[in-house]
Amino acid sequence: MVTSGHRQTSLRETLPGLRRVLVRMAPYLRPHRGLVAGGSAALVAAVLTKLAEPWPLKFIIDHVVQVSDGSSGSGIALVDDLPIMTLLLVCALGIIVVIGLRAMFDYIATIAFALAGNRVLTRVRADLFRHLLALPQAFHSKSKTGDLTMRLISDVGMLKETAVTAALPLAVSMLILVGMISVMLVLNWQLTLIALLPLPLLWLFSLHIGKKIQTVARKQRRNEGDMAATSAETMAGIRTVQALGVEQEVGDGFAGANEKSLKEGIKAKRLAAGLERLVDVLVAFATALILYFGTLFVLDGRLTPGDLLVFITYLKNMFRPVRDYAKYSARLAKATAAGERVVELLDTRSTVIDCPDADLVDNLNGQIELSEVSFGYDHGETPALHDVSVKIEPGERIVVTGPSGSGKSTFVSLLLRLYDPTSGLVKIDGQDIRGISLQSLRRQISFVPQETLLFRASIRDNLILGADIDVTDEQIEKAARLASAHDFIMQLPDGYDTEIMERGGTLSAGQRQRIALARASLRQSPILILDEPTVGLDNVNEAVVSQAIWRLAKGRTTLLITHDLRLAQQADRILCVDGGRIAEDGTHDRLVKQDGPYARLWNRQGGGHDVIAAE
Ligand code: ADP
Repeated sequence: MVTSGHRQTSLRETLPGLRRVLVRMAPYLRPHRGLVAGGSAALVAAVLTKLAEPWPLKFIIDHVVQVSDGSSGSGIALVDDLPIMTLLLVCALGIIVVIGLRAMFDYIATIAFALAGNRVLTRVRADLFRHLLALPQAFHSKSKTGDLTMRLISDVGMLKETAVTAALPLAVSMLILVGMISVMLVLNWQLTLIALLPLPLLWLFSLHIGKKIQTVARKQRRNEGDMAATSAETMAGIRTVQALGVEQEVGDGFAGANEKSLKEGIKAKRLAAGLERLVDVLVAFATALILYFGTLFVLDGRLTPGDLLVFITYLKNMFRPVRDYAKYSARLAKATAAGERVVELLDTRSTVIDCPDADLVDNLNGQIELSEVSFGYDHGETPALHDVSVKIEPGERIVVTGPSGSGKSTFVSLLLRLYDPTSGLVKIDGQDIRGISLQSLRRQISFVPQETLLFRASIRDNLILGADIDVTDEQIEKAARLASAHDFIMQLPDGYDTEIMERGGTLSAGQRQRIALARASLRQSPILILDEPTVGLDNVNEAVVSQAIWRLAKGRTTLLITHDLRLAQQADRILCVDGGRIAEDGTHDRLVKQDGPYARLWNRQGGGHDVIAAE
């Protein structure tokens, strides 16, 4: 990422990054070639009309005013032969035509580039979001949600805006500069050189201030990224923030960062405004030079008064690109930084991917086998699982338990292929899961996480998420009954059509969990994985959810991660994980007798005095 650490100092240093962004965006631009070509043609036409702007006035001065007072002719036969009044009329109309044409070409170019930019970046944004959805856990667990959102919304938006508000005007300005210098050289090269005298000085100032503006702008962008990350994190944990009563501290922290961003914004504006005023003074200096030497040339007869007028008009316009250089280059640098953040994401390759000849699977039996599986986050440097070998038969109801951090969640993550093992094999129905298409593998598994993900939609829509599309109302109700969710759903104002708020904020933890179970039931998959589904529930809810779990487990290979050993009692088999290994494997009674880690956990929980009745 260019924004961090590395200092970009000028447009020239921005260019490699800009090129990388453009190269990456080129395929997106290809379908809009026509639009870009049309826009470019309009752009050149607009520049030509801009160059023509002072010419009607020049003709009036040289051929109408001067000829009428008898002082001079023009030397251009065609123009001299025209009656004076006709010429005056043609020139007057010419002004309207030239300005009208310029307005039209400007309009066409702006619209064409805006359309192309918007279409391209709308596609880029949609692709980026899809790409983010497909990126593996290894990526997401290291990324900040706020920063990703910022890239998706604001960085893409900035690219879009810059294409029209900086890249386009900068191109126009450069074309105008080249065009004007060419015309001036043809009219009078000595005067042109005089006019260009302040240019190097201006360029130096512009580079210097531009550099400063870019540094400030980049800082501001980084700051904004941090602010977005902070606000996203805070909003996600707003319950905790309010419960701890730390709104004041969190608010102050954010206000501080916001204030800093404001200060940097003002600093950038002050620098840009300063540069613009400096240009005004230098333009005045150049104008004075031109007026002085130009008038001498006119008196000498080396230049016509009209030519002098063209010079003066061009001069004003010519310095604008230099004046705007700082402004546009800062904007371009910002957009390049934004573009690189987008490209960096787009180019992040998933490590968990389908192999080219991945099998599509359906109707698996649900036999699971891990052989000598080791895995570590951070490329296996600190292993979370060591040499795990275990075989689970179809329909077995397994409880996975063990101390926190022992590797239980990691174990199920490997089954879901959220990560690939560092070594060893994970097989389902005897087939290495790396040979199975990711999507079809995950369709065979229902996963009930600790925190149920509910979307802002109706209960029904939330229930059928991930189920077959042709699921019927009867099936939905059956699943809800199985999960003990039907009764409370019917008590909601609109039953199954009740809209729930974001993250299910209007439902209790127990209700959310029951919706998750109903959702898993609708999925009809041979494998069911539940990650501590009863954590944080009160006794009543816990009992209801536990019963629902075992109903749901019927006929499916079930892996239930839990600390609650009363649940473990009812499982066919228990895997007790400790320090990334399966320390014990057996039925509850056997493991209690073994007097190992499981028995210790069991005794710590009071020997399961109030056992929940199995169904
Ligand atoms: P459990 O589910 O038993 O509480 P986990 O499987 O979550 O344990 O964690 C096992 C080990 O892996 C722990 O030491 C934990 O710190 C580490 N770990 C878990 N998730 C990540 C992650 N995304 N990145 C790095 N380390 C992780």
